[in-house]
Amino acid sequence: MTRILLIGPPGSGKGTQAHRLSGQLHIPEISTGDMFRSHLANGSPLGREIKEFLDAGNLVPDNLTTAMLRERLQERDARNGFLLDGYPRTVSQMDDLDGILDAAGTSLDAVVEITAHDDEIVRRLLLRSDAEGRSDDTEDVIRHRLELYRQETEPVIERYGRRALLVSVDGTADIDAVTVSALQGIEAVRARP
Ligand code: AMP
Repeated sequence: MTRILLIGPPGSGKGTQAHRLSGQLHIPEISTGDMFRSHLANGSPLGREIKEFLDAGNLVPDNLTTAMLRERLQERDARNGFLLDGYPRTVSQMDDLDGILDAAGTSLDAVVEITAHDDEIVRRLLLRSDAEGRSDDTEDVIRHRLELYRQETEPVIERYGRRALLVSVDGTADIDAVTVSALQGIEAVRARP
């Protein structure tokens, strides 16, 4: 049973690593960004509600995000472990997640932070924008998403650090090396007293 969070700025390679780590650890990968994008693509009521936030690179309001995540965590495949990618992104979401896990009588095993410098992030995201055509990968929107990351998400990382759950991995290293460091980091956190 492994419950892990993966936190990192857009363009840090978080999605790629989430995919690899969930495969290696045999736990479902739950990405709130992917869930929102599929609501958008399906044109669901939630999709219509969140479109303006995603297009502008803004955070979807905490209540909508947490409601969606709470439901997802209740699905059978997530009961015995999960890797969360992109949630929590605010201190309020962090409190919500604590409440959800407390109510289920469980807790997190580790929080993996993937780091990268702004210039590298912008370079990678502009490349991705050419490849995938995401509406939120233009330079202005990328810079805005980074600003939100610093303002809203870094305080979350700092708090997990105080709980001794945190391990930081350099996201600009080679893809395989990042995966290995993340796996070693998770083991090291679990071994902490
Ligand atoms: P991502 O794929 O993780 O970069 O997420 C893409 C977009 O989905 C973000 O820019 C937000 O608009 C939205 N989003 C994803 N996760 C969250 C979250 N935890 N809280 C608020 N908005 C989110």
